[in-house]
Amino acid sequence: MQKAKLTLKTPAQSKSIVRISETVSVGGSDLLIVGGPCAVEDLAQMEAVASRLATGQIQALRGGVYKPRTSPYDFQGLGVEGLKILASVRDRYGLPVITEVMAISQIEEIAEYADVLQVGSRNMQNFDLLKALGQANKPILLKRGLAATIEEFVMAAEYVMSHGNPNVILCERGIRSFDTYTRNVLDLGAVVALKQITHLPVMVDPSHAAGKSELVPDLARAAIACGADGVIVECHPVPEKSVSDARQALSLEEMVSLARSLEPIAQAVGRTIPSAVTGNLPRFSYDLLPTAS
Ligand code: PEP
Ligand code: MN
Repeated sequence: MQKAKLTLKTPAQSKSIVRISETVSVGGSDLLIVGGPCAVEDLAQMEAVASRLATGQIQALRGGVYKPRTSPYDFQGLGVEGLKILASVRDRYGLPVITEVMAISQIEEIAEYADVLQVGSRNMQNFDLLKALGQANKPILLKRGLAATIEEFVMAAEYVMSHGNPNVILCERGIRSFDTYTRNVLDLGAVVALKQITHLPVMVDPSHAAGKSELVPDLARAAIACGADGVIVECHPVPEKSVSDARQALSLEEMVSLARSLEPIAQAVGRTIPSAVTGNLPRFSYDLLPTAS
């Protein structure tokens, strides 16, 4: 890691706090709990998600509108229509939104609507994209590549930072191994190492690591226990109807109770979880929607 200059801890910079909205940041004593579906499907889905999570202890929403799917025949995301849905729930529920950018050509459009631009695992070493994101005026959530070493991961962050954007959040999301029982292997050792060697916030995505919803809450708790600055978790109003990654999606109630269960662990490691968004939130019930045929 000798050539890394901007990512590594120095006596003068031992930690960075990345602000993602006026009231939400990551890397300080507050943990960042992010929830939302794999993909934005329609406005009703995101209303249901945002209205429930805003009253739980979830500080930000996730949802892909450009989806990196293994098969070109699978749902590829709603594109700009999805961005508008994200921005609309963000504005009404006060939760900043995170969404994936897959190509340089999408950066400007996504940065207009989203608060954080996610680089997916499959693009962690898309160096042209990383360089272009160095010029973006939004924080970058950089996910670890499917089989990237810790050094390669840190160097990917170094690409973004050396091109002008200091606001990088690392995200461990599991790495490929031989075992097919879990989708990937959640590398909590990497989280500990990254916290020791870099000053950047480190988040954990237990959903893509586990691939199975029943494994997600314990992995999220383990992540906070070992020093992660937050978790990003997939959840859906009707998990089994998710258009992508249904098997790993928590229900909204499971998401809210997961956030609650992180409290004592946060306390044990000297961290805090901000309280729920307050104020007069619009009310919405997914049950009132006509059922899709
Ligand atoms: C996602 O967050 O939905 C996603 C595709 O994640 P990853 O890039 O980690 O596979
Ligand atoms: Mn997903």
